[in-house]
Amino acid sequence: MVVDMVSIALTNIGKIVTGDIENPLAEGDTIIVEDGKIREVGRGLNVEGCDQVYDCSGMTVTPGLIDSHAHIAIGDFTPRQLTINFIESEMHGGVTSMISAGEVHVPGRPRDAAGVKALAILNAKAFQRFRPGGVKVLGGALILEPGLTEKDFEEMAREGVRLIGEIGLGKVFKPEHGAAEMVRWARKYGIKSMMHTGGTSLAEVPVITAEDVLAVNP
Ligand SMILES: [Zn+2]
Repeated sequence: MVVDMVSIALTNIGKIVTGDIENPLAEGDTIIVEDGKIREVGRGLNVEGCDQVYDCSGMTVTPGLIDSHAHIAIGDFTPRQLTINFIESEMHGGVTSMISAGEVHVPGRPRDAAGVKALAILNAKAFQRFRPGGVKVLGGALILEPGLTEKDFEEMAREGVRLIGEIGLGKVFKPEHGAAEMVRWARKYGIKSMMHTGGTSLAEVPVITAEDVLAVNP
């Protein structure tokens, strides 16, 4: 994506939180951002020439939060909660990045290998092109279903899929289902995984024990 270089200055900041637990506060009252990256943090910096200047009126500036477990569907809509603009609403609470835990609430979501593969590729590509409210969404988290092959994982990785959604949403969640093998294939092609454990919020999702998690090794 080609974006014009834009410089943004935040001035008159009361407190700057870094997100680094070893060094939680930064000294300064000004942040200059260039081309989406922080270029300079300091006190009384020269902001002349910045395209946009925002006076923070003494407020605190923090890094954006990451929601690491969200069940997105298509676009900024979660059918299960009958909610539109939920991603944009999270942004108002400080969330600037969201990681899909599986697009399990897509109405009529496919339960076969070809279908879940298509769904993962579709969501990975759609959210590369769409930032609801400016939130960066890592979409396209594969739901494990029987019949997926190593070749499928290789193809999905090539098409931009970077995640296995919460293992346990599909029918494959124990080693005897092939779950450990699928996780190994995913790792081989740079795809990360997460796994459900314990009680569930959906009647159709089985209880997954700690032994299952250790055996699948997500
Ligand atoms: Zn979940």
